[in-house]
Amino acid sequence: MVIPKEVIVRQTQMYIAGGWASAVSGAMREIINPFDQTVIAIVPEGDNRDAERAIQAAREAFDDGPWPRMTGAERGRILYHVASLIERDAEELAILETLDTGKTLTESRADMSDIVRVFRYFAGLADKDGGVVIDSPNANSASLVVREPVGVCGQITPWNYPLLQASWKLAPALAAGCTMVLKPSEITPLTTLRMAKIFEEVGLPPGVVNIVTGPGETVGATLAESPDVDLVSFTGGGDTGRKVMRAAAVNFKRIALELGGKNPNIVFADADFETALDYALNAVYFHAGQVCSAGARLLLQEEWHDQFVEALVERVRKIRLGSGFEETTQMGPLISEEHRAKVEQYLAIGRAQGAKLLVGGKRPERGDLQKGFFVEPTVFDDCVSSMRIVQEETFGPILTIETFRTEEEAIDLANDTVYGLAGAVWTRDMARARRVSRALRLGTVWINDFHPYFAQAPWGGYKQSGIGRELGPWGLEEYTERKHIYQNFDTQPMKWFG
Ligand code: NDP
Repeated sequence: MVIPKEVIVRQTQMYIAGGWASAVSGAMREIINPFDQTVIAIVPEGDNRDAERAIQAAREAFDDGPWPRMTGAERGRILYHVASLIERDAEELAILETLDTGKTLTESRADMSDIVRVFRYFAGLADKDGGVVIDSPNANSASLVVREPVGVCGQITPWNYPLLQASWKLAPALAAGCTMVLKPSEITPLTTLRMAKIFEEVGLPPGVVNIVTGPGETVGATLAESPDVDLVSFTGGGDTGRKVMRAAAVNFKRIALELGGKNPNIVFADADFETALDYALNAVYFHAGQVCSAGARLLLQEEWHDQFVEALVERVRKIRLGSGFEETTQMGPLISEEHRAKVEQYLAIGRAQGAKLLVGGKRPERGDLQKGFFVEPTVFDDCVSSMRIVQEETFGPILTIETFRTEEEAIDLANDTVYGLAGAVWTRDMARARRVSRALRLGTVWINDFHPYFAQAPWGGYKQSGIGRELGPWGLEEYTERKHIYQNFDTQPMKWFG
């Protein structure tokens, strides 16, 4: 595929207070295409000073600007406009996302369609909650509970779904009337920066959305620490989440954490064999396993083990690696050299701890893939709960297989990690599907499916997979304060003190 010239970004700037800005330090960072390591753009490398400037812009926009004071319907109208411009520019955004992340263009196009739906959903929700009148203890009084925006939000996103994750935070925060500073991952900022052009085009008041590029340790940490930020919403790994939570304690800011997962995909021997097999591949190898909800743990009922694993391995051998722009490509590269090194460490740990390598486990040998950060899709069999590859998020194309006999054993195995994000149950027995889905300590359970998420449904984790929910009315609630206004109509002196 020939990439249109206008999509190639050479140099770009951050978006602060409604204008384009360089980093105070003047530092810049090269953005690399993970398929061939070419430089696709140069962006400012901001630090705490840029973050502070953006926070002040968001503070002013919240304290004195029009956005929080508009009606929900007015904000909704602007968000509908944002959605239609994303739809207009979807192909350009998708190409940019594939250049920046290496994921297939088909995946990037699907991301853009989801993003349009997310903005439309929250546009529609913006005017639906005008508050409620509650029963008041005094007949001559009235009690109203109103919804108000939380304030200035710090939003920190990861590299695997750059614009999708940004939209899950931006759309509800905007609908609620908040103002915000968003820090994309320093290695994948391009679509988020491009999105600022859309905010500019729809006439979003200055300072409502600010986008600051730069490292997490400076820009991200400033957002988490600043007493001028009222809420921090973070998506990323658990270790970073812990730092964000500690920093947020400074002013007891509200926090929302979307962290990792080690998601079980439970297949009972009464499921539809072909469909369960097909989805087991999608579950884990989508975006080369760099998905928080990746079905990286296949729990297989004993009587199906041999035939299922044999068919699975045959399919895995046929997965086509390549450039995200080639129509035949099914799996792209990992995001960076550093991340590939982490995934390769897990391959070594798996072998050392006794897991049986069935396929993959190394870099591909094909000549045209040598510059990309590829790892072959991998399957480890004979895995047990005590292994690190079963317990820890590898965030790569690694599938572990554990075998179970009974329903109870499947539930125990599935729940036996510190995570609780998502998982699936495959069975034709609907009573069992219901029992198992209720027993799993997960934020999302799919029955006879894997991965569907959509704007109407909550997304978030139990246990160490996070705090709070994104999407649905719950996603809007995160950015909302509830205020009780009590009005006394009987203004007589009380005479309590004589
Ligand atoms: P990281 O936790 O490394 O980074 C996430 C973001 O946090 C990046 O923007 C990063 O900046 C920033 N950051 C780093 N240090 C700090 C700090 N001290 N204070 C504030 N912010 C900081 O995660 P990855 O980007 O590596 O993403 C992968 C992880 O994200 C996986 O664990 C995955 O499971 C999780 N994830 C969870 C999702 C969910 O919905 N639950 C969805 C997608 C991913 P920078 O890297 O630019 O320096």
